[in-house]
Amino acid sequence: MSGRPERLWPLFAEIQTLDGVGPKTAQALGQVGIDAIRDLLFTLPHSGIDRRVRDTIRGADMPATLTVPVVVGQHRPPRKRGGAYRIEVDDAAMRFQITYFHARPEYLMRLLPPGSRRLVSGRVELFDGVPQMTHPDHVVEPSESGTIPEYEPVYPLTAGVTQKIMTRSVANALAKTPELAEWIDQALVAREGWPAWKDALVAAHAPGNAADLAASAISRARLAYDELLAHQLTLALARRARRARPGKITHGDGHLRAIVRASLPFAPTGAQLRALEEISADMARPERMNRLLQGDVGSGKTLVALLALLIAVEAGGQGVMMAPTEILARQHFDGLAPMARTAGVTLDLLTGRDKGGDRARKLAELASGEIDILVGTHAVFQDDVAFADLRLAIVDEQHRFGVRQRMELGRKGEAADVLVMTATPIPRSLALAQYGDMDVSVLDEKPPGRQPVRTALISEERMAEIVDHLRGAISEGRQAYWVCPLVEESENSDLAAAEARFAHLRGALGEGAVGLVHGQLPPADKDAAMARFSAGKTAVLVATTVIEVGVNVPKASIMVIERAEAFGLAQLHQLRGRVGRGTAASTCVLLYRPPLGEAGMRRLTTLRETEDGFRIAEVDLEMRGAGDVIGVAQSGVPRFRIADLERQAGLMAIAQSDARRLLEADPGLVTERGQAARTLLWLMRQDEAIRLISVG
Ligand code: ADP
Ligand code: MG
Repeated sequence: MSGRPERLWPLFAEIQTLDGVGPKTAQALGQVGIDAIRDLLFTLPHSGIDRRVRDTIRGADMPATLTVPVVVGQHRPPRKRGGAYRIEVDDAAMRFQITYFHARPEYLMRLLPPGSRRLVSGRVELFDGVPQMTHPDHVVEPSESGTIPEYEPVYPLTAGVTQKIMTRSVANALAKTPELAEWIDQALVAREGWPAWKDALVAAHAPGNAADLAASAISRARLAYDELLAHQLTLALARRARRARPGKITHGDGHLRAIVRASLPFAPTGAQLRALEEISADMARPERMNRLLQGDVGSGKTLVALLALLIAVEAGGQGVMMAPTEILARQHFDGLAPMARTAGVTLDLLTGRDKGGDRARKLAELASGEIDILVGTHAVFQDDVAFADLRLAIVDEQHRFGVRQRMELGRKGEAADVLVMTATPIPRSLALAQYGDMDVSVLDEKPPGRQPVRTALISEERMAEIVDHLRGAISEGRQAYWVCPLVEESENSDLAAAEARFAHLRGALGEGAVGLVHGQLPPADKDAAMARFSAGKTAVLVATTVIEVGVNVPKASIMVIERAEAFGLAQLHQLRGRVGRGTAASTCVLLYRPPLGEAGMRRLTTLRETEDGFRIAEVDLEMRGAGDVIGVAQSGVPRFRIADLERQAGLMAIAQSDARRLLEADPGLVTERGQAARTLLWLMRQDEAIRLISVG
């Protein structure tokens, strides 16, 4: 594709080419990412000042910004240097003062000559009962009253740039802005009543009242949609490019799946079957699968993964599943081993722990195709790990991995289908922003028979009571996790806290009853501690957050989280998800250190009130903002200048289907609208997408 469309050139000119923007201003704006004229245009006012003219300041609720015509009275220069220079003025009903500091008297005499009429606008405050306007924002002759906007936009500022400079630069920038052909679906534009792009920009920079500043104001909504559409077009192009690379047709005959399903003590849920249906259909297609399996904690993703892996084996190929921690990789291995044995499938485990001859043997068996399914940590991606015929690669708990690892996975096994699984119930808007290039299956149904987890907030001052309760519970054969937080900066002191709690609980509950697991333990000790707990030999497992993700010991029914206020919502939800996995009623105790701050309180009460991961994710998003929730830097989701992911989830969904539809109807983006869409991509600096257009 040719270069940037000529019509856009003025918008990509450097900010310094604008009248009134010197090198200093340009540099200051550059600091906040405003380099080109387009960047300035997309920096919208965040508030506004009402400057409607009134007769008098009398009766106004001060302090306030007020605009009144006045007759200028006496000047009273300061008595000592640096003091206030006061000018008396009369409006229609009362006298007040305009005050300046460090102003030259000649200048003030010219600006406000005694006896003249002026329109003044500025902030008025009471000092010793006398209203005073200090350094008015505007002083104009009555004939020029039109130069004071009734509602003045206020821009987010950076050091070295004043509102005046911003307002003037934006006006100059708008004057250079061309009209652009419409890239949004006409029907949508009509339905929403959206203005054309340039009109929307002009309107967004000239709000008439506070309502015009809301994200829902039509001009802003349109500009937000432009950003979302550009992002979704990029994702749609990426998705198409990925699909265009040839994959393998993997068609299982179902015989292994049938054996495993017959051996299960339960029936798959409807949601699990639906997801499998979607996965097997993808695998049977010649394009590569790129699918996200989203399911809250405990929704049964592992079974879906196993059955999907069996499809690969049924077709004579191999599968690999990568887990983010060694504990989890081992757990998957242990959990899948009996089923693999039943089905006569060869399963193996590869982690960073495998060294020397053992590792060499596993690699050889992978290369020869003897191993059907490999489970492991990111060790499975090392360069020397080669498969005979890799058909399916699964990443469990994908949010634990960076985007780079997700991409590495795609490269391994040239044509392998990719399934990523995540328990992070990110709200739909974020899922679309982050995974818009993928197809999504959702496990929206939990296995039957689960009982709600009763969640209690208890002050750690009542620790002794909790321990007493725990003693009672374990004497009835129940099992508990006790999670110690990562509160301190240094890992060592956290460890010390966990070890101290371990010693304390052993003292209180008996030596043999309590185990300990944390990240610093030698791997073999970690395994042993998990295995003892899993087998019911220890009743209580003291742990750091290493158990946060994926761990599955269905019999454990009590979760105690110490200093719960120190954890994030998503993390607490994951931790609590370790219990409530069996049929027994479960309890989660959130121990907090009083006094509980407002945010901590909101997190803990949210958790007490709901187990719905999506609801929890929404509160999380509300409290922390989109960037923090998904880690914008590594997720590849851009920071939108105008769009607000938290509040414009609906628009994001529309943008996704609009983008996909446009690409289906016009794969080369050659129609009139297609051309306009290219312009949008250039405008939004979606260089990546522009490269991809030619691939389609
Ligand atoms: P997650 O989605 O959090 O990874 P798991 O796959 O670990 O969940 O499953 C949680 C528990 O639910 C496991 O003990 C698993 O055996 C069980 N399970 C999975 N599917 C079903 C089902 N259809 N019916 C009953 N229990 C199930
Ligand atoms: Mg899991």
